[in-house]
Amino acid sequence: MDGALTQNDRSHVVDADKAHVWHHLVQHKPFETTDPNIIVEGKGMRVWNQTGKEHLDAVSGGVWTVNVGYGRERIAKAVYNQLIKLNYFAGAAGSVPGALFAEKLISKMPGQSRVYYCNSGSEANEKAFKMVRQIAHKRYGGKKHKILFRDRDYHGTTIGCLSAGGQDERNAQYGPFAPGFVRVPHCLEYRRHEQDGAPQDNYGEWAADQIEKVILAEGPDTVGALCLEPVTAGGGVIAAPDGYWPRVQEICRKYDILLHIDEVVCGVGRTGTHWFGYQHYGVQPDMVTMAKGVASGYAAIACLTTTEAVFDMFKDDADDPMNYFRDISTFGGCTAGPAAALENMAIIEDEGLLENTLVMGEYMTGKLHALAEKHAVIGDVRGKGLFLGAELVTDRETREPVEEARVKAVVADCMKQGVIIGATNRSVPGKNNTLCYSPALIATKDDIDQIVEATDAALGRVFG
Ligand code: PMP
Repeated sequence: MDGALTQNDRSHVVDADKAHVWHHLVQHKPFETTDPNIIVEGKGMRVWNQTGKEHLDAVSGGVWTVNVGYGRERIAKAVYNQLIKLNYFAGAAGSVPGALFAEKLISKMPGQSRVYYCNSGSEANEKAFKMVRQIAHKRYGGKKHKILFRDRDYHGTTIGCLSAGGQDERNAQYGPFAPGFVRVPHCLEYRRHEQDGAPQDNYGEWAADQIEKVILAEGPDTVGALCLEPVTAGGGVIAAPDGYWPRVQEICRKYDILLHIDEVVCGVGRTGTHWFGYQHYGVQPDMVTMAKGVASGYAAIACLTTTEAVFDMFKDDADDPMNYFRDISTFGGCTAGPAAALENMAIIEDEGLLENTLVMGEYMTGKLHALAEKHAVIGDVRGKGLFLGAELVTDRETREPVEEARVKAVVADCMKQGVIIGATNRSVPGKNNTLCYSPALIATKDDIDQIVEATDAALGRVFG
């Protein structure tokens, strides 16, 4: 793979980037003395930067997105063929790939029925929040409008989504937030000692019961929806313990609260075996949002799916000129998104990637547990499928998070070795202490060995 740019091109691109690009998620001062990493090319699990250096990507494009890996000609061709035929039409009209992808997607989601297109995870979540609010106005005189969200969960970058954001690090300095969003406690068993009254046994049910307590305190007739990640991503890679999800479903039904599952990270194969994270737990959501893995980053596309019952609430009273979902997404009319998404799903089916994710996820979990036997700094290994985290602590008894600077040093060391891993846990400012792994669903044992060996060497150097 020839990812390197010529010396002239490289200088030009780096200068242009340093002069004009405001990168996501970083402080720019260091770029006064170092160059940013500019990714030039990708193939399969690997990417090459401006110097031609090869990296094994263990984070699917940085944020859990490139599920089928880089350089997929099948997707590029499908998008090309669609674009030269029709690139775009928005508003009330539909499109051929829009109809075909909706049919395919819904075939993987028993109980869901309708697909609403837009173009980012945040936007899909905003749409869901708007639906909840409109239902509250239409059916409950505006009263049942509150949206519950969970500590440590993240639903997006807009002010509306941050209002439903359970990660204090991300929210700090961006308030004031929108009213009507209420936080419920998290379900991270490893940190149950930080929660008053958390029991040793049946923690999952207890954690779900804490949601019911909030509902009762707020008044069930004021709560319209509960929005949860199936496996919390940025908040520390948290899969809920046994007993949690059945109770959550029961509570939502008991109080007539819509269950909105945010599958922006877990959706389309990431957790293995099933297409969606919630499907591991037998949950029947009312609304599901998804984005990243839907087209593996080959095009910007996000979807909100709903049950027919939710859809019907916007279809009845057809004589009322206000009774439809008065919402649009300009780029929800791009046809590249569903064209890419159709091909993306076909690849996952043709190559058996849901099964591969299960098998490789188990393999990687085993390797990370073995690493924890060697490095006492690993306090917990958790996750689902190829979506795994290793929480680093100074002491396994107290579970005190290690300093974030040392976690960053581990990530930087892996990068030097040519392996890109992540670090997350944005709940406590300055305490991002969870190493994060989300390789593409095509990962092989050799890839995983390389990722874990790099982590092993990095932990050895940083923590001794
Ligand atoms: N929900 C979850 C669970 C996410 O992790 C993210 C993004 N990291 C979002 C929503 C927002 O997606 P986007 O960045 O596409 O707006």
